[in-house]
Amino acid sequence: MLINEALGPVVEGTDGFDIPAAWLAMIRRIRNLGRPGIAAMAISGVDAAMWDLKARLLGVPLAMLLGRVRDRVPVYGSGGFTSYTDEQLARQLSGWAKQGIRAVKMKVGQEPGRDPARVAVARQAIGRSVDLFVDANGAYSRKQALALAGEFAAEDVRWFEEPVSSDDLDGLRLLRDRAPAVMEIAAGEYGYSPEYFRRMLQAEAVDVLQADATRCLGLTGFLQAGALCQAEARPLSAHCAPALHVAACCAVPAVRHMEYFHDHVRIERMLFEGGPQLVNGCLEPDLRRPGLGLELKRPDAARYAA
Ligand SMILES: [Mg+2]
Repeated sequence: MLINEALGPVVEGTDGFDIPAAWLAMIRRIRNLGRPGIAAMAISGVDAAMWDLKARLLGVPLAMLLGRVRDRVPVYGSGGFTSYTDEQLARQLSGWAKQGIRAVKMKVGQEPGRDPARVAVARQAIGRSVDLFVDANGAYSRKQALALAGEFAAEDVRWFEEPVSSDDLDGLRLLRDRAPAVMEIAAGEYGYSPEYFRRMLQAEAVDVLQADATRCLGLTGFLQAGALCQAEARPLSAHCAPALHVAACCAVPAVRHMEYFHDHVRIERMLFEGGPQLVNGCLEPDLRRPGLGLELKRPDAARYAA
């Protein structure tokens, strides 16, 4: 199944490869607005809706339409906000561990001096058998991040996300080369185009690339990020919005895991029926439902209408 068939007739793009005509038309229309940011997010929404529509019209789950290579996708629990007390942090992360989720992620970077102690609280809460990830959202300087990588390693932190700005590809590369060997460097959530991901991979800036289908020109862009990762033998991790990503993550061989982001899980359950189920630390799409499988709970959503 050609991925390009989802968005109507296929045309030749400027790089000589076939791409969906509707996708190219949308990208051309925003040439003078600039592609990164809100324009790419709007295209992402339309792209995801069209994939969903195509699968519904064919009466198949989107994971099957895209070419499923796995039944379910491992997730990591994600939250651990810097606004939490130590008790809230411990309760949230240990709660995910009790649900069978095998890795959890917390935020760092708001108060660097407190971060090693907060990370120690998290490790104490989840025990030694659950992987611990940290996400600095680019808050540290290079030297600060290097020093803290050493301190976090003492608590066996396995993933250091955006230790420095994701625009500082040389800085990410520095961290990747010099952080403890067990600690992976991850970034990519602000990628709005395949070119962004290619630059990040070619700079050897990350051990694991992240991509977000609500930003990177939709599920079409996410599939392209997957192809780039496969070519570079680098794993891909989906950023946020798990109900949107699960079908594509079942179909992209390079995917390692998905982010089970606290707020998005809550909102997806609040507003949609038919979302993926958490089974043994993995999300599993419901293959009895066509498309993304989601139905808006209209009465519940109505109260938020403007
Ligand atoms: Mg992040």
